Amino acid sequence: MRAEVISVGTEILLGQITDTNSTFISRRLAELGIDVYFKTTVGDNEQRMLEVLEIAAKRSDLIIISGGLGPTADDLTKQTVAKFLGQKLALDQAALASITAYYQANHKVMTENNKVQAMYLEDSEAIPNHAGMAVGNFYSNPNGPDYILLPGPPSEMRPMFTDEIMPRLKQRVDHLLFSRVLRFYGIGESQLVTDLHDLIEEQTNPTLAPYAKVGEVTLRLTAQAKTKDQADNLLDTLEVKIKARVGQYFYGYGDDNSLAEVVVSKLKEQHKKVAASESLTGGLFQATITSISGASNVFDGGFVTYAAQAKASLLHIPQDIIADNGVVSEITAQWMAKQTLKLMNTDFALSFTGVAGPDSLEGNPAGTVWIGLAQKDGSVSTKLCHFYGDRAEIRTKTVLEGLNLLNQALNKGKL
Ligand code: ATP
Repeated sequence: MRAEVISVGTEILLGQITDTNSTFISRRLAELGIDVYFKTTVGDNEQRMLEVLEIAAKRSDLIIISGGLGPTADDLTKQTVAKFLGQKLALDQAALASITAYYQANHKVMTENNKVQAMYLEDSEAIPNHAGMAVGNFYSNPNGPDYILLPGPPSEMRPMFTDEIMPRLKQRVDHLLFSRVLRFYGIGESQLVTDLHDLIEEQTNPTLAPYAKVGEVTLRLTAQAKTKDQADNLLDTLEVKIKARVGQYFYGYGDDNSLAEVVVSKLKEQHKKVAASESLTGGLFQATITSISGASNVFDGGFVTYAAQAKASLLHIPQDIIADNGVVSEITAQWMAKQTLKLMNTDFALSFTGVAGPDSLEGNPAGTVWIGLAQKDGSVSTKLCHFYGDRAEIRTKTVLEGLNLLNQALNKGKL
C-alpha cells in the first residue's frame, strides 16, 4: 500500500505553523508497515487542491488529508474532495446533535456554517471527533485510492487517528512492523556500516538502518511479520549476527535509552554510587547523570574544578603535583579521581581534565583529554583521549567516554 499525506493550510506554506500532523501520521503508518511515498502541502485554495488530488490519485493507494474541515469559508477540504470524487455531502445526525448540544450548553448561538462540520462524503464513513466538532471521513473507494480526511488541530487529529483510523487500517494490512534499536558506543557509523555491509546490502526482512549521533551510533532493525513472536524470531537471528561482529561496542537497546541511562540503572542495580570532579566539562557529566530520573540513588554530588587553584583547594591536591605535571596530565587526572572518591566516599569517582579548545593548553591541542576512574578497591585507571570537533562536541564526547569507562567497570563488577 503506497500512502500519500496531504497537509492543507496556507499557514503552513507561509511558515506560520509547522506541519507536525504529517510527521505524526507518517510515524503511525510506519508502525503499520504502510509506506509513505509522498507528502504534499497545499494552501486553502480549491484549484490547487484539485491539482494535488489529481496527482495523488495517480500515484497512491491511500490518501490522508489533514486540515480544512472547519466551518469557515477557507475550510474547503471536504467540499473539494467531494467535487473531485463526484460525491455529495451528507449530514451526520449524531455529530450535528453533539454540535447543537455544545452551543446550547454554552449559551451560544450556533451559526448555520457550523453544520458543515457535521458533513461527510455520502459514501464514506463519518469518523466521530471526540476532541472537537468536525467529523473525519474514511472513504473506501471501489474505483481508486482510499481517502481519509482529518481535522487540522493536532489535539483533534491525533486521537482520531490513533483511536479510529489505526484500527481500521490495521484490518487492511496483513503484517505489522516491529522495530528494535541497538545502541553502540566506541565505533563510528562508517566503520559499523563497513563491518555490516553484507547484512545491510542483503536486507529485505528485517531491514537495518544506522543512525549516527555525536559519539554514538544506533541501528534500527525492523521486521515485518504477522505477530510479535514471528518478528522477535527474525530480529533475534539478525541481532546475533550483528553482535558476532560488533558486539564489543553494543551497550543497550531502545530509542531513548542513552548510555547515561544504562549506567544509572546499572549503578542502581548494583547499589553503587558515583561522584566526579570536572574541569573541561564544567559539570556536564554531573548534569547528564542528574537529568535521569532516579539519579539520587546513585549520585550524591561532586566537584567542578575548572581552574588549577580549585583543583588544589577543593580536592586537596598538593599544589606542586599540578605545577610539576600540568593540568592536562595523567597524574592530575589520577589525583582528581582518587581525591573525589575519598571526599565523597563513593564506589566510583571519575575525573575529567583536558582541552575543550579552540586554543591549546600547556602545549596540548584542543581535544586532548585525560579521564581518571578511581574505584573503592583502591585502583585508579586513566585514559588519554584525542577527540575532534568543536568545543561542545569535545565536551560531549568526554562525558560519553567517562560513561563508557564506568559502564565497562560496572560490567566487570557484574561478572
Ligand atoms: P478548525 O475547525 O479549527 O478550523 P480545520 O480542520 O479546519 O480545523 P485548519 O483550519 O486547517 O483545520 O487548522 C486549524 C489549526 O490546526 C491551525 O491553525 C493549526 O494550528 C493546526 N493545524 C492545521 N494543520 C496542521 C498541521 N498539518 N500540522 C500542525 N498543526 C496543524
